[in-house]
Amino acid sequence: MAKFCAFGELLCDVTPYGKSDRGFPIYEFNPGGAPANVAVAIRNLGIEASFMGQVGNDHFGQFLSNTLVSKQVDVEALLMSDAYPTSLAIVSNKADGDRSFSFYRKHNADVMVELHDSFKKKIKEADVFHVGSVSMSDEPSRSTTFSLMKYAKKHDKLITFDPNLRVLLWDDLNDAKRQIEKGLQLADVVKLSEEELFFLTDIKDAHEACMMLMGIYDIQILLITFGAEGCASFHQDTYQHIPSFNVNAIDTTGAGDGFFGGFLSQWMKNGMKMKLTSRELALYCQYANACGAIATTQKGAIGSLASEEGVHKFLEVHNG
Ligand code: ADP
Repeated sequence: MAKFCAFGELLCDVTPYGKSDRGFPIYEFNPGGAPANVAVAIRNLGIEASFMGQVGNDHFGQFLSNTLVSKQVDVEALLMSDAYPTSLAIVSNKADGDRSFSFYRKHNADVMVELHDSFKKKIKEADVFHVGSVSMSDEPSRSTTFSLMKYAKKHDKLITFDPNLRVLLWDDLNDAKRQIEKGLQLADVVKLSEEELFFLTDIKDAHEACMMLMGIYDIQILLITFGAEGCASFHQDTYQHIPSFNVNAIDTTGAGDGFFGGFLSQWMKNGMKMKLTSRELALYCQYANACGAIATTQKGAIGSLASEEGVHKFLEVHNG
């Protein structure tokens, strides 16, 4: 069976949890960090996954590492730094279930991560290597990310990329665009939200924007997510939209990661083919939509990611 490994940030999403008796806000510490979420999403769906990166050797870092272990994600290449603390992302929920972020992340463990032999070992053992753009925002994690992508490419691994643009983490959005574009040059399977697609292309029409990106980069499968509206795939000149499911969304944290994990689990279980029929893609996208929709029905990211059985039941109910 194919193996997955992800590199990037693992941090605490600090999410609102009502008010105390004295009227002060209560916050809950949720394990998060997009590449780690994707590793858990994939592991939940029955594929061996490892997570590589760096947290602080502090209370939060221990908590995060223990969480991944409890989800059966391999953390052999998760470094624990004595010098730098674990990052925090403070999440605010908006009325529509969507969320905004503020980060406590300057000179923190995930930013200060440097190349390590254990990362290369894990990449060599895996078939698919996954990254996001948060680790591309500052040095030295930026150079580490690109070195690992090139290392994976050199060793014939397939590269999956979800830029997951976090505007607040960048001093200059032009720089964000440049780094994401560098990532797109190395990636085989890419997932973008519709906002990110517009950010990269300046084109409002998603189909047209996808054609532009596929004309520039050697991406094999491009996926676009539209929140409650579902997703689109673009592959071998064919664009198709697949609607999502009707759910009572209460927190969209982790929806995109659940979605991508869902898609990749299906793609990996079916031989990681680079030539897919529209029917195969539609089935994988439908599965991914179910995983994304399920993730919105509970608070937080890692705790709300679907299990194989959960998706199965969900599809039975929702497909009649
Ligand atoms: P991201 O977190 O990357 O911005 P989205 O919010 O677009 O991603 O969500 C990813 C996927 O999760 C969507 O493509 C869809 O399949 C599913 N999803 C998200 N929100 C909802 C919702 N309110 N109802 C149903 N499905 C949803």
